[in-house]
Amino acid sequence: MSEKRDITQHLKNQGQLSRFFCHRMPERTFKINGTYFPVCSRCTGFYIGAFSYFIYVYFYYVDYNLMTIISSFLLLIPSFIDGITQFFNLRESNNILRLFTGLLGGVGLAILIKAFKLFIFLNSIF
Ligand SMILES: [Zn+2]
Repeated sequence: MSEKRDITQHLKNQGQLSRFFCHRMPERTFKINGTYFPVCSRCTGFYIGAFSYFIYVYFYYVDYNLMTIISSFLLLIPSFIDGITQFFNLRESNNILRLFTGLLGGVGLAILIKAFKLFIFLNSIF
């Protein structure tokens, strides 16, 4: 059995629930010293971007107005385009591009989560 198939089988056996969140394909996942990250490069970017934003808003005030919400959707667009064009085999992305579009998307998603939280729990948006 090839090394690639071994790795794929290993990742598939790591937990079925987490596979709903990330495909964890080895060729789309970063690895350090032969050890793969638990999520793919795009999801790595999403997590880093989102948690960086959450740390930022812990220390600095962010006004969640219409422009902030529109900006969050704009930040999600590169990741969406990168993912959807790859899904339909229009082009092949690479891990660095996946990481950077994921970083932008993570910030956009985190803004939406914070805005949604304010809207639901405090009803204090707009
Ligand atoms: Zn992923």
